[in-house]
Amino acid sequence: MIHSSDDTIAAIATPPGPGGIGIVRISGADSLTILKQLFAAHSPGSADLASHRMYYGWIKKPQTGELLDEVLAVYMQAPHSYTREDVVEIHCHGSFLIQQNILSEIIRLGARLAEPGEFTKRAFLNGRIDLTQAEAVLEVLRAKTSEGLQIAMAQLHGNLHAALEHIRQAILHVLAVIEVAIDFPDEDVEILDTDHILQIMTNQVRAPLDALFDSSNKGKVYRDGVSVVILGRPNVGKSSLLNLLLREERAIVTAVPGTTRDTIEEYINIKGMPVRIIDTAGIRETVESVEEIGIQRARQKLEEADLLLFLVDSSTPPAEEDHRLYAILKDRPHLLLLNKRDIALPNSLELYQETFPASRILETSTKTGAGLDELEDTIFTYVTGGEIQWDPGHACVLNVRQQKVLLRAAEAASAAIESLGRGEPADLVAVDIQAVLGHLGELIGVSTAD
Ligand code: GDP
Repeated sequence: MIHSSDDTIAAIATPPGPGGIGIVRISGADSLTILKQLFAAHSPGSADLASHRMYYGWIKKPQTGELLDEVLAVYMQAPHSYTREDVVEIHCHGSFLIQQNILSEIIRLGARLAEPGEFTKRAFLNGRIDLTQAEAVLEVLRAKTSEGLQIAMAQLHGNLHAALEHIRQAILHVLAVIEVAIDFPDEDVEILDTDHILQIMTNQVRAPLDALFDSSNKGKVYRDGVSVVILGRPNVGKSSLLNLLLREERAIVTAVPGTTRDTIEEYINIKGMPVRIIDTAGIRETVESVEEIGIQRARQKLEEADLLLFLVDSSTPPAEEDHRLYAILKDRPHLLLLNKRDIALPNSLELYQETFPASRILETSTKTGAGLDELEDTIFTYVTGGEIQWDPGHACVLNVRQQKVLLRAAEAASAAIESLGRGEPADLVAVDIQAVLGHLGELIGVSTAD
């Protein structure tokens, strides 16, 4: 598809809300002409705007000469720009009104308002980035931790593309070998070296596809995080634990039982993994009506949680309500936290171990901070399946579209491997292998389909 570049687009590139600077961006053939009509350079010698240089000056309304802002402007000549088209960026003050005024003038001069993601779309259509990279731009923007960002950046840099390209080359080789066998079917010599092809299909196609899928599941943990729900009867220290994890006074801590009315949600960062911590109002059979709504939400959160933290007060023996909570959560992934360790009953560990045998126990004190590092370690190990040391640089993030296509590619590869194993004719095997190739093309965005 050839993209018509006589269509020039413009948009405010920086996020809404006041900031130090705001950037208005233009892309397309008219970018420079538009800039020249708006921009008055400070230095008289800079009437001709050279590519990739910053110019200091003013943006003025062309008709009235009214001053809109003091700015820095840069022109980036095609193809050395983000979109591979002529691009102009105007760095103005970060007020929404100023950016809006400048954008209006640009539109008046013939540019069209860009749709969301359209600059990146042009970068893709003009072949500067492939589809995996275009999609990585979005991941870069939504990364919540530096590890998540590292994964998205690696992808933007093209590591997913490189891995897929490697697989594609292996398939092209196999197809070439098979073509020969199909073209010379009557030769006496055994041209189709099935073992050789099987080996390539297994080791250089199927295995790397599986590995990519696997690493994308890890990438997902870094992108979307996991959700952890804190539960326990009133006054055991749930709010205090949440505060300690957040290291800020966010939830209201109070000595009056049952005053955390609703659920509170916050993200914390455990070894680079975003963890959504949810404090509940407590799940109890008998509740006052004020807490009813909070309780319902808590139950729903409990259904969705990846891990439950069941808090009890180790300064008292297990209470009736603890038993009821245990009944609800004993078959779900959970940790039992014996809180208030600083004032614990001498035999609390044995006592709770006997009472709640299905639980893995940690002793904590939100007052002294004891046991907190161990808790964070345990949450991390639990969620990553024990792989404490894995390198986010080797993970990838796949969106739903990519994961589906990758899965189809792996299935087609398996089908090809099975046909080879059954000794089916070369032209039939070739159909399956072609399918793998098609799915890979779809992932990279070079498929002939669209
Ligand atoms: P929640 O109702 O479960 O959210 O409990 P809070 O976090 O509001 O705590 C209830 C009371 O227990 C407060 O007075 C806290 O200061 C106290 N508390 C919480 N954790 C500890 C702890 O580890 N040791 C001691 N000694 N007191 C604690």
